[in-house]
Amino acid sequence: MRTQTPIPGKALRPVSRGAKVSSQINHGVLGKGLSRFRRALLRWYDRSRRDLPWRRTRDPYAIWLSEIMLQQTRVVAVLEHYRIFLARFPDVEALAAAREDDVLAAWSGLGYYQRARRLHQCARQIVEQHGGCFPRAFDSLLALPGIGRYTAAAIASIAFAKPVAVVDGNVARVLERIMGIPLTAAQSWQHAQALLDDLRPGDFNQAMMELGATVCTPRAPRCPECPVRQWCATQGEIPRTLTSTRQRKKQIWCALEQRDGVGQRCNEIRLVQRPKHASLMAGMWELPASSEPPRSAPAHWRTFRHSITVTDYTVHVLRDPPLANAPFTARGKWIAIDRIPQLPITGLTRKILRAGGII
Ligand code: SF4
Repeated sequence: MRTQTPIPGKALRPVSRGAKVSSQINHGVLGKGLSRFRRALLRWYDRSRRDLPWRRTRDPYAIWLSEIMLQQTRVVAVLEHYRIFLARFPDVEALAAAREDDVLAAWSGLGYYQRARRLHQCARQIVEQHGGCFPRAFDSLLALPGIGRYTAAAIASIAFAKPVAVVDGNVARVLERIMGIPLTAAQSWQHAQALLDDLRPGDFNQAMMELGATVCTPRAPRCPECPVRQWCATQGEIPRTLTSTRQRKKQIWCALEQRDGVGQRCNEIRLVQRPKHASLMAGMWELPASSEPPRSAPAHWRTFRHSITVTDYTVHVLRDPPLANAPFTARGKWIAIDRIPQLPITGLTRKILRAGGII
C-alpha cells in the first residue's frame, strides 16, 4: 500500500504563472496535488529520459558502480569508463578478486580515486560478509564502506524498489526551487521522502535527478518545458541565496619530457607518483607540475583547461623543458610508454598525453 509522509505547512495549491514568489511560497504537496505531481513527473520521465546504460538494468552491482562513478563526474565522462570497467570487472566477485593497481588503472581518467579504492574495499566486504550478494535493506547497504546515505538509497530504490528517497545536488536544487525557500540538508531529505512515489521509487528518484540535470539546471532552468511547473513556487525566479558557489581559478605548469628508449626499449616519459596519503588522487602518476612558473621561459607547447572539485585550472604544458629549469629539475621517474596503460595515471595527465599523441 502506498504510504504518504506529510510535509509540514500548508497544503499545496498550484502557483499561477507570474505569482509573486515571496508571498506564495509552496509549503508542500498534499492530497490530490501530490498524486498529480508524481504522475506528471513520472510521465515526463517515461517520455523524455536519456537512454543511459545503467537505466537498462536492475543489477545492484551495475547500479552501484554507476552511482559511484557519477559522483562529481558528468554523465558524458562516465559512459565510456562505465562500459570498460564493467567489461573488465563484470560482477562484484571479479572486482573483489582484482589487484588495487588494476582497479585504479581502470578508473584512470575519472578522478577522485578514493572512490575507486572504497569501491574495491566494499566489493571485498560484500564477498566476505554477504556471499557476493548485495544486501537489500537500506541500513545494511549503509553499513558498507564507501556507501553513504545517497548511494544506499539509490541502490535500495532502483535495484530493490525500496521506498527511500535520494537527494543529490540536482534534487536539492529542484526542491529548493519548488518550495521557494533555502532548505537545510535535513529538510531536503524530508521533502524528498514526502514526495516519493512508493510504487515506482527508483524511477521517481531518477526522475527528480533527471529533472535537475536536464531542465531545472543551475544557471538557466527551462521552466516552460518543466513537467511540475504548476507546483513550483519560483518558476525560474531564483533567489540569490539559492545560486551555487563560484569555482576557484588557478594556474599550473607541467613538464612533458620524453626520451628515446635504450636498445629494444620503447620511448619513455617522466612521471611523478603522488604521495600515498594525499587527499586527492593518492598514489596516482602524473606529469611533474608546479604552481610556480619556470624561471627561464622554455618553448610553451599548449594550454589546457581542467577542473578538479571546486577549482578550474589553466594548465600550461612545457614540452621538454631544459633540465636545469626549476621547478621541474630531475623530479620523477622515467617510465616506458608501453607501461602507461597499466599505470593509474591522473585524468589531466591522460588528457595531455593523448593530445601529444603519446598514448
Ligand atoms: S524548471 Fe523551473 S518550474 Fe521546473 S522546478 Fe525548476 S524552477 Fe521550477
